[in-house]
Amino acid sequence: MFDVWGKSLPEIEAFIADAKFPRFRAKQILDYVYRRNTFDFSLMLQLPQNMRQWLTENAVICVPEVVDTMQSPSGDTMKLLLRLRDGSLIETVCMHHDYGNSICVSTQVGCGMGCVFCASTKDGVKRNLTASEMLSQVYLFKVMKGVPVHSIVLMGSGEPLTNYEECLRFIKLCHDPSCLGLSYRSITISTCGTVPNIYRLADENIPLTLAISLHAPNDSIRNWLMPSSRQYKIDDVVRAAEYYFTSTGRRVTFEYILIKGMNAGKENALELCSLLKNSHGHINLIPVNGTERSHLYPPSGNEIYTFKRILEANGRTVTLRRKMGEKIEAACGQLKRRYSDTNREYTP
Ligand code: SAH
Repeated sequence: MFDVWGKSLPEIEAFIADAKFPRFRAKQILDYVYRRNTFDFSLMLQLPQNMRQWLTENAVICVPEVVDTMQSPSGDTMKLLLRLRDGSLIETVCMHHDYGNSICVSTQVGCGMGCVFCASTKDGVKRNLTASEMLSQVYLFKVMKGVPVHSIVLMGSGEPLTNYEECLRFIKLCHDPSCLGLSYRSITISTCGTVPNIYRLADENIPLTLAISLHAPNDSIRNWLMPSSRQYKIDDVVRAAEYYFTSTGRRVTFEYILIKGMNAGKENALELCSLLKNSHGHINLIPVNGTERSHLYPPSGNEIYTFKRILEANGRTVTLRRKMGEKIEAACGQLKRRYSDTNREYTP
C-alpha cells in the first residue's frame, strides 16, 4: 500500500499518474493531508468519486498512534509517546517559548552514540526513522494538539547525521510550501559531531541552524562522556564547525552540558576558551538533567555563574538553557525509558 503521509508533491504525482489521474490532483491531495489535515480519502470532496474510491483501495495515510501524553505543570512543555507501525516507541516534545512553539523531533529509535548522560542510548539504536515518521511527530502536535509550529529541532533521540538522507528529506518537507513551509533557519540539526557529515551538510548550501554537542573542553573528557567521539578529535569537530559557518554564514551553537565534578570547573572553562579561540561559535550551557541511575548532577548556581562569566570575559557569547520539561522527564529518551521500565507491555 502506498503511504501518502510524508510524501512530496512529485512522489504523489508519480503515484497517481500510474492510474492516469491528472497531475493537479496531487496538489489537492497534499492540501487535504498537510493543510486541512483530512486523513480519510472519502472526505476529500474536491476529488472525483472514482478517485476517492481508488485512493481508498490503493493508498493509506499512516499516522503513528499516541500512547501517552504528558504536560509539565508549568505548561511550558508537552511530550508525546508514539508507537510506530513496527511497534517501536519514540518520543517527541513541544516546547512553548515566548516567540512560538518548537518541536523536538527524534531521528532514530534509540541511539547508538552511548553518551553517558543520555537516556535514549541505554538500549542502543534499533533503526533509523523515515522522513515520514519524523514529519508525523510535528503533525501530531499541530493536528491533535492544535499547536502552531514556529521551529523544529532535530534534537530528540538519535544521531541525525548518521541518518543523513532521511533527515534531509524531512527537513526539505518541512521547508516545502505545500507541507509546513518553514524557513530553513528555523530548523536546527543537533549532532554529536560526525565530522565528515558536517562537511557534507555545509556543502548542501541550505542555511540550517547547526548545533554541535561538544560537552567537553578536551578529548579525554569528551571521550569519556561521549564514547562515539573517539572517532574524531575535538579540534577536528571545532574546525568542521568553522567550515560550516564560513560556507553557510550560519553561526554554529556548541552545546555544553554542565556536570558537577566533571566538566564544569574554572579550569574547564578556561580550556574551552582556548579550544574555541578561532571559532565564531556560540555556546549554550545546559545544566545536566539527571537521569535515574546516572549519578550525574548539575553544578551549583554559583559554579554555573562562574563558568559563564569566564567564557564571557573571554569574549564568547553564551546562553544558559532554561530548564524545561524536567518534571515530565523531557530530556532525550527519559519518558520512553520510564514507560518501558514500568509497563513491560509497551516495550518494543
Ligand atoms: N545526537 C544528537 C541529538 C540528540 S541529543 C546530539 O548529540 O546532539 C541532543 C541534546 O540532548 C544534547 O546536546 C543535550 O543537549 C541534550 N541532552 C541529552 N541528555 C541530556 C541530559 N541528561 N541533560 C540535559 N540535556 C541532555
